[in-house]
Amino acid sequence: MNELLNVEHLSISFHTYNGEVQAVRDASFQLGRGEVLAVVGESGSGKSVMMQTILKLTPCELKGGRIEFDGKDITDYTDRQMQEIRGSQIGIIFQDAMTSLNPTMKIGRQITESLLRHQKLTRAEAKKKALELLRQVGINNPEKRFHQYIHNLSGGMRQRVMIAIALACKPKMLIADEPTTALDVTIQAQIMDLLAQLRKEVGCSIVLITHDLGVVAANADRIAVMYAGRVVESGASDQIFYHSSHPYTRGLLESIPRLDAPHDTQLTYIGGTPPDALNPALGCAFSARCKYAMRLCRTQAPDAREIQPGHFCSCFLLDDAAKTVREKTGWEVSL
Ligand code: SF4
Repeated sequence: MNELLNVEHLSISFHTYNGEVQAVRDASFQLGRGEVLAVVGESGSGKSVMMQTILKLTPCELKGGRIEFDGKDITDYTDRQMQEIRGSQIGIIFQDAMTSLNPTMKIGRQITESLLRHQKLTRAEAKKKALELLRQVGINNPEKRFHQYIHNLSGGMRQRVMIAIALACKPKMLIADEPTTALDVTIQAQIMDLLAQLRKEVGCSIVLITHDLGVVAANADRIAVMYAGRVVESGASDQIFYHSSHPYTRGLLESIPRLDAPHDTQLTYIGGTPPDALNPALGCAFSARCKYAMRLCRTQAPDAREIQPGHFCSCFLLDDAAKTVREKTGWEVSL
């Protein structure tokens, strides 16, 4: 794979009054050029903290691991070096445009400021480019919107403005952190379609951070599933959707409501709650919620293994030694 981003064995912590929180533990994943990678997991699984720490947008501490972006080792880059890369090569779209954009600055100025900071343009050229960007992200009447404030727009339009600002630096990588969570379902679909279209037009790679596997079904090339700070399964979209091999991934997939299900079908969910991040469980982090948990799972964390080319999973159920448990519980290895 021609990788744009390669993250190996990343561990991240932050400190609270109650102690150290190990937000990310030994996480590895890759993002190919022009590819969409979805990082999926429940709230608190570490997905946003991981990406924000990679970009140096949080004061979290990098405890170990290696980050390579566009062929360069950026693990020890200073805040200033990362700021350069963020502005010129990486665009970011956050969940809530109201808190991410400046409510006191007109939309046009927010885009032109970004263009002037990162490209050698005159004010007139920046304005022309800003109008083009607004058009490109599907904002109607861009000349009028240019002079409006963010509160004059609907939720979907605000997300489009944020995407326009992210595109201003012609990014190699776009990070979209829960970009559709605050939107209703039809607008969600429009924003996802827009991201897919821009990926083709601009040719950038996208990291899509979401808690919703349903959102990524039609949009991701690869998926990394996170649980309690670990990437528990990763692989091509088809491998995750049709051959998922981790009980947590299967639980997430079973929780997606189906339109073709009989009307009296009960919605399924994963019982229990995620472990306390301040006192992580000794063994597999999912053991308290996993109906297949064995004695070993409570004392030892499983390592990731490649079960098919490019498909990684961390679960003891895949061991030959777990054959009896698989037979007893009806767990099927789906490769
Ligand atoms: Fe369940 Fe054990 Fe696999 Fe963890 S390692 S997911 S507890 S079977």
